[in-house]
Order: sequence, then structure tokens, then C-alpha cells
Amino acid sequence: MPKDLPAAWRVSAVSAGEQVALGSNAARIENAPGKKELEVATQSLLSRLAELQEAFHADGRHSLLLVLQGRDASGKDGVIKSVYGAFNPTGVRVAAFGPPSSLELKHDFLWRVHQVVPPRGMIGVFNRSHYEDVLAVRVRKLAPETVWQPRFEQINHFEQMLHENGVIIRKCFLHISREEQRERLLARLDDPHKNWKFRLEDLDDRALWDEYTDAYRDVLAKCSTPDSPWFVIPSDEKAVRNYLVARMLVDTLEAVNPTYPAMQQAVRDAARDFK
Ligand code: AMP
Ligand code: MG
Repeated sequence: MPKDLPAAWRVSAVSAGEQVALGSNAARIENAPGKKELEVATQSLLSRLAELQEAFHADGRHSLLLVLQGRDASGKDGVIKSVYGAFNPTGVRVAAFGPPSSLELKHDFLWRVHQVVPPRGMIGVFNRSHYEDVLAVRVRKLAPETVWQPRFEQINHFEQMLHENGVIIRKCFLHISREEQRERLLARLDDPHKNWKFRLEDLDDRALWDEYTDAYRDVLAKCSTPDSPWFVIPSDEKAVRNYLVARMLVDTLEAVNPTYPAMQQAVRDAARDFK
């Protein structure tokens, strides 16, 4: 059994109204265990996650929605690769949200999101989400404040409704520092296998760093609720990031305590004859 890290090695949920510090310091953890140690511990969490997911799928009472938000190059894809590997693909779906299509823009902003909320038994991962409608839309001034400001409350109502209908929601903000983003964007320019991820808009968004910080701070303060909490994941170190997300997911599924449904009496009777 690979060793686990001390229990303190988990992030706590953002409290309602909390003004979270989002400077460079918050993107790292001081005295973090070494990369190797974290990777071993993450592997052990991912094995546990695989077991929990099998039971969660069979149990079928709830679904789990993991929302991943973060700036460009913050590691949303990296987390998906790390965590998805643990899952049986039958029970998990990933949805990515880019700029809305013209049809999507004709609908309310939650329309495209609601359609891909995972059904019971399934785990859904959102690579970006409805939160772009209070982040990119606000910062890039794609809609006036009279449109985006009421959305915080609309999102809370939407998520509360989902929660009451069996959807367990956990939201992670992958927080990287400005310096780390610069390194990663430069790597995207230099590496032919990563060029395709670099978009001109990434530079526009980087230039709006402080505006995004304010927008994220509002999201965390206004939309972290006990039932649908936000977690800020220090993400400058990939091994730290992967560990903390896996840890939070294991904690979440263990709290659900999924159980395999008991065999129905009719099946039990038939099985006796069959044997
Ligand atoms: P990526 O995740 O790198 O593929 O980029 C997707 C882009 O779509 C990002 O620049 C997002 O800000 C943008 N985006 C996602 N959702 C929305 C939205 N609702 N309104 C405007 N832009 C969005
Ligand atoms: Mg991108």
C-alpha cells in the first residue's frame, strides 16, 4: 500500500463571502512534499477513486459534476488526463465549453450547460463552464453588467436545483501565478506538439490579468455554497495540483459512501435454480 500524505494535505472549501487571496503566493504551497512523494500518493488516491467510481456508478443515486475553471495553461486538461485515467470510461463524460455558438447565444446561458449535466451514476467533468458567463463575458465586456451581475444568483439557484435533484457539484479553480503562466505559454510556442493550444486570445486574456483576478474573486465569494463549494487549487506545481484534486474527489465520494445495490429477490430465486 503506497503511503498517503498527512490529512492536512487537502484544501478546504471557500466559505461563502470569503475574499480569497489570489496572488502568486497562493499558487504554491510552502514546504510541499517532493514531486515523487506526491506522485506516489496521487496514484494511491486514483486507485481508491477507481473503486469508488465503480460503486458510485452501480449505486446510481447521485451524479457527480466536477467543474474545472482556470486561466489559460492553468492545467485543466492536465487534471482531466490525470484523473480521467482512474475512471472506467463508461461512467464518465467530459464537456468543454468554448465561445457559444449563434444558436447557444439565442438561448439562456445555462441552456447548453444543463444538457450535459451528468445523469445519475455518472461523473461529469466540465472543462470551463457556465462560470465563463461571469468571467470572460464580464472581463471582455461581451455583455453589460445588467446582464452578467444577476447571473451569480441565477447560477446559485441552478446549482441548488441540481443538488436537490441528486447532482453533487464540486468546483475547482486552478490557480496559477502570472510568472508560471508566462512560462507555460512560452512552452506552447516552442513545442510543436503544444503550438495548437496557443491562441491569440490567450494574450488578450493575459493582458487582462487583474480584471480576471477580480472576476474570479467575485465568483469564489458569491458562488461557493455548502452544497456546491469552490476549491482553490494551488496549481503552479502540477504534482501538487493533481494530488489536491484527487484528494478532494476521494473525500467527496467517500462521504457519499456509495454502495452496490442488493440483488432483487426474484433474481436471487432465479439464480438458485440457475446454479
Ligand atoms: P480553451 O478552453 O482554451 O479551448 O478556450 C475556450 C475559450 O472560450 C476561452 O477563451 C473562454 O474564455 C471562451 N469561452 C468559454 N465560454 C464562453 C462564454 N460563455 N462566453 C465567452 N467566451 C467563452
Ligand atoms: Mg486555451
